[in-house]
Amino acid sequence: MTGPADTDPTGTDPTGLAAGRGAGHVLAELRALQAHDLPTHGGRTLAYVYDSGLADADALGREALAMYSSSNGLDPTAFPSLLQMENDLVAEAAALLDAPPGAVGSVTSGGTESILLAVLAAREGAPGVEAPSMVLPSSAHAAFLKAGHLLGVRPTVVDVDPTTLRADPAAMRAAVDASTVLVVASAPSYAHGVLDPVADVAAVAAERGVRCHVDACIGGWVLPHLEVPEAWTFAVDGVTSVSVDLHKYAYTPKGVSLLVHRDAALRRGHFFASARWPGYTMLNSTVQSTKSGGPLAAAWAVTRHIGREGYARLAREARAATVDLTRAVRDVEGLRVVAEPDSTLLALATDGSCDVFTLADEMLARGWFVQPQMTFGALPPTLHLTLSAATAPSVPEFVTAVKEAVAAARASGPVPVDPGLAGMLASLDPAALDEAGFARLLAAAGLAGPDGELTLPQRMAPVNALLDVCPPPLREALLLGVLDRLSRPTAR
Ligand SMILES: *Cc1c(COP(=O)(O)O)cnc(C)c1O
Repeated sequence: MTGPADTDPTGTDPTGLAAGRGAGHVLAELRALQAHDLPTHGGRTLAYVYDSGLADADALGREALAMYSSSNGLDPTAFPSLLQMENDLVAEAAALLDAPPGAVGSVTSGGTESILLAVLAAREGAPGVEAPSMVLPSSAHAAFLKAGHLLGVRPTVVDVDPTTLRADPAAMRAAVDASTVLVVASAPSYAHGVLDPVADVAAVAAERGVRCHVDACIGGWVLPHLEVPEAWTFAVDGVTSVSVDLHKYAYTPKGVSLLVHRDAALRRGHFFASARWPGYTMLNSTVQSTKSGGPLAAAWAVTRHIGREGYARLAREARAATVDLTRAVRDVEGLRVVAEPDSTLLALATDGSCDVFTLADEMLARGWFVQPQMTFGALPPTLHLTLSAATAPSVPEFVTAVKEAVAAARASGPVPVDPGLAGMLASLDPAALDEAGFARLLAAAGLAGPDGELTLPQRMAPVNALLDVCPPPLREALLLGVLDRLSRPTAR
């Protein structure tokens, strides 16, 4: 055990940071810390990260990020270069998204912020609606639920078609009422990788005179280069805004997304000004006020370097990898493709011979990260795969690993969940749990030792299998408890 006492006999320097350390030492510490993270490059992490496989584009992005990391997007007149780069990126996105002349946009920090602002603009655009709501397909990204929570816009969630997993425009039409300020479609959905019938959803919105946002956070920089079954851009009448994350398939460093509006009036609602304090007049287009120029400059640099033809090639590579992989896993006994992928995302389910959680552990043991997605209503738990261009060359290796992992998972069988425990969990009211009850629950889930100390196990399957039988409110409460316990300052 090393604790503060070893380095700080007097107890006046509990964090050991009173004296600074050499840059070389600190960099070595950073590298040691990073060694425990998922790899961001190499194409074996099939969620969270996006790898073009282009080392020079990555190097350029890092250099631009560093060059602009201290520039401040707070005031576009003080840093005109940032404004220029923002307008350039929006112009490129507008062209890709078939936006009409007069379209405008803003650079945000990510997909969640783009969605927040789309919801905010819709709310502000309907001041006469007292208790605003939005109509979402059940496959919409949870960022809309977060936006609803933060902004007081009630989500009306409409089940997707149970076979295609696409939004159901007729059911959405029936859900629109006088309080609706926004209707949403995904291009494609994150969980299942399918494109919603955007034209029909947008028609529902247009018919009622409300806005339609297309969430192309993950597909917006890929789909323009692929043959897709549905129109989904501003070419569709009734689409009023589209979000596209550049830190996904534009392969730029994290922290950049775009929200594009059909016209400037539609954007007005997410701008904010305040002259009601003694300092500078605050003037913000997004949630952030002081914002680093780094991610924006990096996105500007990387998109110019790769170019539209480069992106078309990368999109075709990622798509070909998705099609090849889909074809190969279809033949693996025990696995099932949940929906024919429209883009570069794939969801896989298992039959009763094994479970996706064990499969995820077995894949991780073989150097591949795939993301478990839990049971949702009538939908089974699945594995989510996001394929980037860098994964394309290793599809055969992936298929070999999947076959081995499925064989191993079938040999061990699905993780058993004690029926008594499952029944108890299903009937538990998370709001009624006290601290001690919560600690017992974490221990039962395998997330804490008997002393209540949090322990994250090597193999997550038993934990995930248990979380999977928890009703969503209990799962949320449990994981929030884990997050709370993980997020505590620790003396070193
Ligand atoms: C990633 C994603 C988001 C959220 O974006 P963040 O950048 O993680 O905030 C929203 N919608 C879809 C479809 C996504 O794939």
